[in-house]
Amino acid sequence: MQGRHRAPLKPLCQRRVSSCGACCGLYNSVDHSAPTLRRLLDRRTDALAGLPRTPEAFRAAASRLSAEGEEPVFPSVRVCPLLGWVDQARKRVGCLAHPAVTGGPDLRDCGAYDALICGSFLCPSHAWLTEEEAELVDEVCGDAHLYGLVVTDVPFVRAVLAALASLAGGRVEKRHLARPGLREALRDLFALKEELEPGSEGLFGAFRPDAQGEPVPRRIDYEAAGRESSPFDAILTCIGADPRSGNDLDRIEGEVRRRLAACARVLP
Ligand code: SF4
Ligand code: SF4
Repeated sequence: MQGRHRAPLKPLCQRRVSSCGACCGLYNSVDHSAPTLRRLLDRRTDALAGLPRTPEAFRAAASRLSAEGEEPVFPSVRVCPLLGWVDQARKRVGCLAHPAVTGGPDLRDCGAYDALICGSFLCPSHAWLTEEEAELVDEVCGDAHLYGLVVTDVPFVRAVLAALASLAGGRVEKRHLARPGLREALRDLFALKEELEPGSEGLFGAFRPDAQGEPVPRRIDYEAAGRESSPFDAILTCIGADPRSGNDLDRIEGEVRRRLAACARVLP
């Protein structure tokens, strides 16, 4: 549901360079790698492109597209088939039923929710992220895939920024991105979110679906892995560096250490 009402923080859905479709169900499938989601968004955008801008046409198309989709990982987060590319260059993900995209009619009632819910929803990140943090995440991610995975996981953003602050001896801010190599090094660190095993729980933050599909907090079971807790536990928990998530804990911990060290080399 691409939130549209005013909040103290500028909406996170469409930013200067990045865009997000998480609450419209973009990542709610076992394989939500960037290439797979690009193909999905291409299919939907192509299917809706030539249609009359009428509720009948959009409802029928939505139902066809939904029938082709996979089972969601979290049943409580619906997958809306009206999410697609909203720009010619196909770099911005967004609502194809929004009046700004259809050129007039509001067709969001034809999607997974309705226009009222879609227009009023703002995800919890709006309450927790500062404008400074949001701008930093936008600048660093700069796309329609990694950005949504990161901006919706406030504990992950905070854990990464806290780790950087302890390396730099002070808070790392957006203005520091002008330092050669820092943007790239930080993106590499955020990109851990994109490199987890398919179906990994870490893609949804420090939560896993319970029997009803509702998110419940999780922790890394170090005892089961026969080792002590990691100094990077906050980051590792958010990305699901847990054998039960199909990930190799030691390997990912090594990656976190390596990528933080790369940031440290270019930090102020
Ligand atoms: S109609 Fe679908 S894509 Fe559009 S805002 Fe609502 S849930 Fe998202
Ligand atoms: S998850 Fe949050 S930032 Fe992303 S589209 Fe929804 S309201 Fe916007």
